[in-house]
Amino acid sequence: MTDCIFCQIIKKEIPAQIIYEDEKIIAFKDIQPKAQTHLLLMPKQHFSSLAEASQPEILGQLLWQTKELAHKLGLAKNGYKIIINTGKEAGQAVFHLHLHLLSGDDLKEFNI
Ligand code: AMP
Repeated sequence: MTDCIFCQIIKKEIPAQIIYEDEKIIAFKDIQPKAQTHLLLMPKQHFSSLAEASQPEILGQLLWQTKELAHKLGLAKNGYKIIINTGKEAGQAVFHLHLHLLSGDDLKEFNI
């Protein structure tokens, strides 16, 4: 979608600190990190939220690449958290399905 900021990052129309990318999934640093490590992972295909995702396999790939990336970055040892805000009341601000991958000491205050 042309007016979607994450689609613009995916198309390299605006810059981001990209950490991982394959044919279907991209991961980049959150611009306003809420933890020592704060990455956003998402499908390159535009779905406005998890509620609108229509392909089970893309959700599997998203979760799989999150696990792989967490392992590669050495986050699994101390632990990490994943969050998918879905809808306005849940705090979703960018309407392109994405997952927050958070890790670091500062997460101790962040429990539900
Ligand atoms: P959410 O509230 O789940 O929709 O999260 C949106 C996230 O996108 C927030 O944590 C923002 O800091 C982040 N964000 C917004 N614009 C950018 C950008 N241009 N590059 C990286 N992260 C961004």
